[in-house]
Amino acid sequence: MTNYHKEEYSLITFTKELLDRILQSIDIPIVLFDQNARIIYVNERFYRYVKTTPESLLNQKIDINSSRLKEELFFFSLNVKIIHPETKQELEIPLNISPFEYNNQILYLGTIHDGYYDSLTGLPNVPIFEFNVEKAIASAKRRNKILAILFIDVDNFKFINDTYGHLIGDKIIQMVSKILESTLRIDDFITRKGGDEFIILLNDLARKEDINYVLDKIIEHFEKPIEIENQKIPLTLSIGISIFPDDGDTVKDLIQKADYVMYKSKKNNRNSYTFYSQEIENDLKFKHKIEKKLLQDYKNNFKDFEIVFQPIFGNLQQNKFSIEALEVLLRWKLEANNYIDTNLILDIAKNKAIIFDIEKYVLLKVAEFYKNNLYLKVPMHLNISSRMFYDISFIPYLTNLIEEYNLSPKMFVLEIQESTINKNLASSAEILQHLKELKFSICIDEFASGTTNLSLLYRIKPDYLKINFNVKEDELKVLLEIIDSLYFVFKTKIIANKIEDQNIFKKLMDSKRISYFQGFHFSKVLNTKEIITYLDKGWLYEF
Ligand code: GH3
Ligand code: MG
Repeated sequence: MTNYHKEEYSLITFTKELLDRILQSIDIPIVLFDQNARIIYVNERFYRYVKTTPESLLNQKIDINSSRLKEELFFFSLNVKIIHPETKQELEIPLNISPFEYNNQILYLGTIHDGYYDSLTGLPNVPIFEFNVEKAIASAKRRNKILAILFIDVDNFKFINDTYGHLIGDKIIQMVSKILESTLRIDDFITRKGGDEFIILLNDLARKEDINYVLDKIIEHFEKPIEIENQKIPLTLSIGISIFPDDGDTVKDLIQKADYVMYKSKKNNRNSYTFYSQEIENDLKFKHKIEKKLLQDYKNNFKDFEIVFQPIFGNLQQNKFSIEALEVLLRWKLEANNYIDTNLILDIAKNKAIIFDIEKYVLLKVAEFYKNNLYLKVPMHLNISSRMFYDISFIPYLTNLIEEYNLSPKMFVLEIQESTINKNLASSAEILQHLKELKFSICIDEFASGTTNLSLLYRIKPDYLKINFNVKEDELKVLLEIIDSLYFVFKTKIIANKIEDQNIFKKLMDSKRISYFQGFHFSKVLNTKEIITYLDKGWLYEF
């Protein structure tokens, strides 16, 4: 064997302390053993990988044939076994082994194969983790124990990377890994799945309540911001949990289910945990199915998207109302006759950043509808989302469209939710002013459902206020009082929406302050064909 002399490659003298520093700082798990396979040195990465202390490993024997060892004079790779000092579990460790001569004996330097641990955190990789979980499942089966898989994803980590940079991001992942490890017992396992995701196995639980104990510990650790390089960075996690034997009995199934419900935690505003249940899985699968088809249809020229109408009644004559306007609504079907709640679709569209295109599509369809049925002189109420309202291309798009189709802005009532306006009062006042100058009518939708800015209302003087009346008796009273005062101050026309029963309708009629009525009590949502038929007939609502 070749003996190198340190003078040839080093400018310093290697003290034991320096050598130890070097080995401890190498980000690879390192073990040194002698010809009897006795462990004589481990670095931190190694004992953390085995999940024990250095003291318990030193002097332990590696399970490797010593006569084989003596034969090997050059680098070789071998899976060796170590009995975990505390749990007595047999751990298989994939080692690259380099023999070298020192003080007339051969020593062996073992490093764990590259792909077997995560280079950023030093945690065992997913296959090793799964291998350990399989063993844990087998053992839990024999001893009637419970196991839990925790699937963990850091919240808004992209934002953290963007704000503090990737290097800090990496450090945070390392810290999260250490914090999570610190909450575990010696026979639990943890792996980094990649990115900002970790999976934990809580081993050998006697009761399910023990899971909450660990979850509370984890959450407590993240209650305070993480401190890195004098910066305090708040961090939260979303967690999904599956349990053996209740939710599955294979490692893959348990991980998949925990992963599944982790998304439920993400959807619940993050920073939360969710236990697996069949209902949640069904619900998520259903949403996933909707999302997939919605995106497909969107790309496929808006297949299965449709505009529909809800009549707005007014112009009271004796005991009759006539259709005075139409609110345009979007409808989309998942499959034949299975229309999905539009709010859910718009939520998905918002998340997938396609809401703007969908709304443009609705405007285009309305323009086409008018063009083909110009004789129908009813104004159309169009819902304008916050995404659209604040987009600089919104007004040019709208004006171009009506010019192209030769329509009058007076035929359009733009419905903007009060909450949209409240997002930015200064700029919404400007946009609304501009729309009024262009002769569009303005309706404030969902009026009085949140904070109402009366001075803005005074400045803008919207043409309509739309108020929802699917409310309880006591709320109804308050709303009617508000309407009374509004009537005197603003003289704005009020549309009562979401009227679903006769009782409320009657009370609203008694108030005499409401000009228009809308809701299932008067009419269901109508498709293009139906609405044309009704309008041709001069459809009335009689009471
Ligand atoms: P969410 O709350 O929905 O989990 O959003 P998120 O921003 O955390 O995004 P997500 O979990 O989907 O993606 C994790 C991001 O972490 C993707 C990538 O930008 C970043 N990332 C992945 N691997 C690493 C890494 O090794 N180091 C650093 N610094 N960032 C990483
Ligand atoms: Mg994340």
